[in-house]
Amino acid sequence: MKEDTLIIIKPDAFSKELVGRIISELEEVGLKIFGCRQVRLSKGEAKEFYREHRGKEFYEAVSDFMSSNPILVMVFSGENAVSRARKIMGGTDPRDAEEGTIRKRWAQDYRHNIIHGSDSLTSAKREIKFFFPGGEGIYWWKKKEFKL
Ligand code: ADP
Ligand code: MG
Repeated sequence: MKEDTLIIIKPDAFSKELVGRIISELEEVGLKIFGCRQVRLSKGEAKEFYREHRGKEFYEAVSDFMSSNPILVMVFSGENAVSRARKIMGGTDPRDAEEGTIRKRWAQDYRHNIIHGSDSLTSAKREIKFFFPGGEGIYWWKKKEFKL
């Protein structure tokens, strides 16, 4: 099934100059960029984005990290985009991530793990709406107004 998923290139990917490589990893498996914004979240916005983790011991720290610097927020689309993106990202903790995955290769630790990807279609819908309310920025492509 054709799906959209939300990908975030996290601040550590910028400091490690890996932004282009991360995008290439996703494009190389046939996922297409449908929307793209560089955003600097406030702490409050980061907490809202990660609200499912409210109360967990890493909640404040991950919200600090995600609001510490700009991030690149992207909608990728393709067959089974949600699970395919998760697979090439690898597990949350790079120590457990599969060999060859983005996090295994480049993540420093549990928190500084380079990339976010929606974990389900339901999350993807909520997260895309969070960053692209009303579909602005992706809608034009969906309407097939983009022609080469
Ligand atoms: P994922 O990003 O793989 O979906 P989660 O949704 O469980 O992982 O967690 C959201 C983010 O919070 C992670 O990507 C990571 O940056 C951070 N995080 C999760 N668990 C921990 C932890 N135990 N210690 C530090 N940071 C964590
Ligand atoms: Mg998650």
